Amino acid sequence: MAIAALNRKLAKAFGGRFTARAERQHTVLAGESGDWDEIVAAGYLAAKYNKRAGLVNNIRYTGEVQPVRMPAVNDDALEGTTPDVLVIGGGVVGCAIARELTRRKLDVLLIEKECDVAMHASSRNDGMVHPGLDLRRGSLKYKYNRRGNAMYDQLCEELQVPFTRRGQYLAFPRKIFISTLYLTKVYWRYMDVPCEVKTREQVRKRLPGLHPKLRHLLFFPTAGSVCPYGLTIAYAENAIQNGAKVSLNTAALSMEVQDGKIQSVRTNRGTIRPRLVINAAGTFAENIAAMADDRFFSIHPRRGTNSILDKKANAQVARDHLAAMFTGGNSIRAHGQHTKGGGVVLTAHGNLLLGPDAVETPNKEDFSTTPESIRNVFAKQVKASENLNQGQIITYFTGVRAPTYEEDFVVRRGLYTENIIHAAGIQSPGLTAAPAIAEDIAAWAAEYLHASSNEAFDPVRPAIINAADLPKLERSALIREHPDYGVILCRCEQISRGEIIAAMRRPLPCDSVDGIKRRVRAGMGRCQGGFCGPQVAQVIAEELNIPLHQVRKSGAGSEILLGSIKEVSA
Ligand SMILES: Cc1cc2nc3c(=O)[nH]c(=O)nc-3n(C[C@H](O)[C@H](O)[C@H](O)COP(=O)(O)OP(=O)(O)OC[C@H]3O[C@@H](n4cnc5c(N)ncnc54)[C@H](O)[C@@H]3O)c2cc1C
Repeated sequence: MAIAALNRKLAKAFGGRFTARAERQHTVLAGESGDWDEIVAAGYLAAKYNKRAGLVNNIRYTGEVQPVRMPAVNDDALEGTTPDVLVIGGGVVGCAIARELTRRKLDVLLIEKECDVAMHASSRNDGMVHPGLDLRRGSLKYKYNRRGNAMYDQLCEELQVPFTRRGQYLAFPRKIFISTLYLTKVYWRYMDVPCEVKTREQVRKRLPGLHPKLRHLLFFPTAGSVCPYGLTIAYAENAIQNGAKVSLNTAALSMEVQDGKIQSVRTNRGTIRPRLVINAAGTFAENIAAMADDRFFSIHPRRGTNSILDKKANAQVARDHLAAMFTGGNSIRAHGQHTKGGGVVLTAHGNLLLGPDAVETPNKEDFSTTPESIRNVFAKQVKASENLNQGQIITYFTGVRAPTYEEDFVVRRGLYTENIIHAAGIQSPGLTAAPAIAEDIAAWAAEYLHASSNEAFDPVRPAIINAADLPKLERSALIREHPDYGVILCRCEQISRGEIIAAMRRPLPCDSVDGIKRRVRAGMGRCQGGFCGPQVAQVIAEELNIPLHQVRKSGAGSEILLGSIKEVSA
């Protein structure tokens, strides 16, 4: 559609307050509004009719926006460095790309603005390895989800990350005839998604809590559950093992671009001069693209809240072989519009998880959780099992997705700038797709830089030993050799002092209570760190040789204690 026609559509819908114009090969929206939902609606409308190379929604939001979290350090640790490849963003996509790049002889540097990897969407998701429902054949989401899903068994074996291919159910009420479900098999065959039709009786043992109204089910055996932050950390550790460097607390702030080429990237830790930049900055991918003078897409952040249940809930709801359970019919369509996954999900660590919802927000880091979101998610999922009750919720969290208005991934070389590759718009199923996206991007990078393969690449990343999972004799032998493995600090998850110390001595630095939690699960159980939190902090203080009041929960400024009682009361 020509720009004039697009402007007529915008005028009709928004009373002439927003306009579209052509800029280089893409379309730009302009105007201003204090209503974020209206800005998003304008973006969707324009994307629907836009036939140019991309859509940038520059309608200015006049409401309040949260400040972006920035690292507290400022030094010149990276000044003058000249990596072959600079990866911006330490989520699952950036870390997967960094690891994949180390299969070649390349000097790789990954920068992450937070104090750890997997601090944004990559630790705040459902952990589902999607079978590929609800995707459009021909889209990048479809292509990378399909390939990524198939890569998970080998990948998680190499990186020693918890992964189970449990399958996923879609449950339907009696009014949907079982014959209709058999007919849908033609569609699933076309989508290349293996599918079986099941009756309620066939799944009774696996789904003891299935709602009485739900009679028939579709079962997708290729769905799985993975530990998303465990995978991201493992990717980063394996990349480091193979020669990559990871610089935490490091934000890309601006770029110098000349003649369509990035010359340098300014960070809070000095100016870097990479040959190639990879944009894997999640909700900030549009900002990185703008710095590189290569912005032809927009990201509109979309929050999703999940609740985690006590493991005791499993026996009444779903014991096994369950990645997700949706109610079918209308609710699946409503549900499917803005989220790919969710429902009632059995996580890789064996907790049930409920969610997520989908709420548009102008804030790229709005990780707050509202009571409405928890209530709405619960009200929706209780349709899958009456045995769910809110008292089983032990914690909740919110993640922010990074969709474009086209609702597809942007995985491609720069449109205007030669030495950038984007992995942008990576919303769900981005976790599933990450291994396949990384494979393509690393291949393009190697081609651009004429890199040869790294014969010394070692794909195996040894996991931290989980003593409680070892057979009795092995565990006793380990404790005899390293008595710290016999001192259980987290009673809910059976995590010992030995594991916490091991987590702090890994290739990727970890020096906060939350960092320990993501690595060994201390604090993930029913008491949520109520008992083990202070002891974990004590171990961190001892390992780092710092006073206890300097131990942080997470990033800078999150110290848990104010100081010693004498100092504070003085
Ligand atoms: C609620 C929810 C549920 C989901 N469920 C699933 C699911 O079940 N299955 C699935 O496949 N997918 C799921 N997803 C999608 C999946 O989580 C994401 O697609 C994936 O994590 C995106 O990874 P990423 O690395 O692109 O982004 P992120 O994890 O957001 O990482 C981007 C990183 O870039 C860093 N960064 C930003 N700007 C800068 C800068 N200037 N300098 C340095 N660093 C910077 C950020 O700090 C951040 O750490 C879900 C997402 C959400 C929110």
